[in-house]
Amino acid sequence: MEQRRPLIAGNWKMNGSLASNHVLLSEIQSGLSELSAAPCDIAVCVPFPYLAQAQSALQSTSIAWGAQDVSVHEGGAYTSEVSSSMLLDFACRYGIVGHSERRTYHSESDISVAQKTLRLIAAGITPIVCVGETLQERKGGLTEQTVARQLNAVLAQIDGASLDKIVVAYEPVWAIGTGITATPEMAQQVHAFLRAQLAQANSVLAEKVQILYGGSMKPDNAASLLAMKDIDGGLIGGAALKAGDFLGIVAAA
Ligand code: PGA
Repeated sequence: MEQRRPLIAGNWKMNGSLASNHVLLSEIQSGLSELSAAPCDIAVCVPFPYLAQAQSALQSTSIAWGAQDVSVHEGGAYTSEVSSSMLLDFACRYGIVGHSERRTYHSESDISVAQKTLRLIAAGITPIVCVGETLQERKGGLTEQTVARQLNAVLAQIDGASLDKIVVAYEPVWAIGTGITATPEMAQQVHAFLRAQLAQANSVLAEKVQILYGGSMKPDNAASLLAMKDIDGGLIGGAALKAGDFLGIVAAA
């Protein structure tokens, strides 16, 4: 069976400052140097203005960095947008697309999430494609239908041979920033379902895709979530802003 290396990725959201980022990144690096070997891939997805800072702080470390969004456009008159080639100028390895906060507050559609995924793949940046149901959808028994719709919009656009160029993040909306985490069994069920969807596009490569869990992952619940067969890491919001918590999750991976 395929051994997938876990990925622990921080999603800093709209947090930080030059000064606080400096402290956080230094603490993460020194904490990591105390672990004998990094047990997983590690990344931080920072606000756009701090990409240069992340690049200069992390370029000679094993920690990767990335952005939290990308434009569907290549360039031109799109005030405030940031293109994939701009992200590449800062050597981003990852770009988050389709986070529920973008879908909710910026009305991002499944199709624009798919277009953003394509832009990143074309630039050689790994998209972290977020999917997840609201509480209402879960209560209505619509979890699988919702995540299938979100994921399949992306799969419809990408070539099956590119499947291993994406990372998927299952983030139940009701668990994001709420302190309520999906139980490992609940999360595993959705992760296995997502992998089965991926397998319809390419059954060999589906086994290689890292499927992250996100939603109030903390050092004290990370190990039980990460022990599940199809949970290959975490997309970490609040706990990524404290070096001790982030490192605690890395150590659990
Ligand atoms: P959280 O956020 O860890 O604070 O719940 C996760 C995310 O939104 O990616």
